[in-house]
Amino acid sequence: MQNDIILEATGLTKEFLGFVAVKDVNLRVRRHSIHALIGPNGAGKTTCFNLLTHFLVPTSGRIRFNGVDITGRSPAAIARMGLVRSFQISAVFPHLTVRDNVRVALQRPLRNSFQFWRSDSMLDRLNDRALALIEAVGLAPYAGLPAVELPYGRKRALEIATTLALEPEMLLLDEPMAGLAHEDIDRIAQLIRKVAADRTVLMVEHNMSVVADLSDTITVLARGEKLAEGPYAEVSKHPQVIEAYVGT
Ligand code: ADP
Repeated sequence: MQNDIILEATGLTKEFLGFVAVKDVNLRVRRHSIHALIGPNGAGKTTCFNLLTHFLVPTSGRIRFNGVDITGRSPAAIARMGLVRSFQISAVFPHLTVRDNVRVALQRPLRNSFQFWRSDSMLDRLNDRALALIEAVGLAPYAGLPAVELPYGRKRALEIATTLALEPEMLLLDEPMAGLAHEDIDRIAQLIRKVAADRTVLMVEHNMSVVADLSDTITVLARGEKLAEGPYAEVSKHPQVIEAYVGT
């Protein structure tokens, strides 16, 4: 049963000079699920994300990934273990083509693969993998286009492709729908569902219809504390959740 939980935070707390931004949060993310972290502005969602990937060090609490205590490890070490935050490696190079951006991401030293790609046959494999990833995120028609010329929604897909290049077991997506037009939202939602078929996704997202549609489990934070947790149908009926959303 424990094996079913890929990420577990216990008693996660973060204080900034006496102000408690995240207070004693317990979080259990099921393997191969889409788990959303929601809450009004200032609820502590970003701080939580930063704690889980150790861009911030918790004041107290423990974090376990795949049963291993990762509290205190560096963001790079955590990424190497397979827990990757999207923007962490999604520095898209604007003047490189979509194809070259993905090729660069595939060659990142994170997986110690520099030697690996040196022979011609390995370069063929690199190109094949880049093309497969580009196709998987729906960017095949744009493969030769510089990233800077991509429509905004397609850039988000490229960011996801460069993240997937690291073969993460679990992806943390920070507001994947922010700034997207309606048709892009549908496409990225489909992509997230596809990505989650053999991985785990934890996302902070404000768009409630996306959250309702995609998430298996929702954790609601308010004023740094966990207010409710469960599937959308349950969580959305919670009086305090309604109050937290309407009352801010
Ligand atoms: P959310 O992402 O849910 O909007 P945040 O995690 O960004 O919330 O912030 C939670 C609270 O912690 C807010 O009141 C915010 O002002 C505070 N906070 C966040 N980061 C810092 C910081 N580096 N120093 C002081 N206060 C912070």
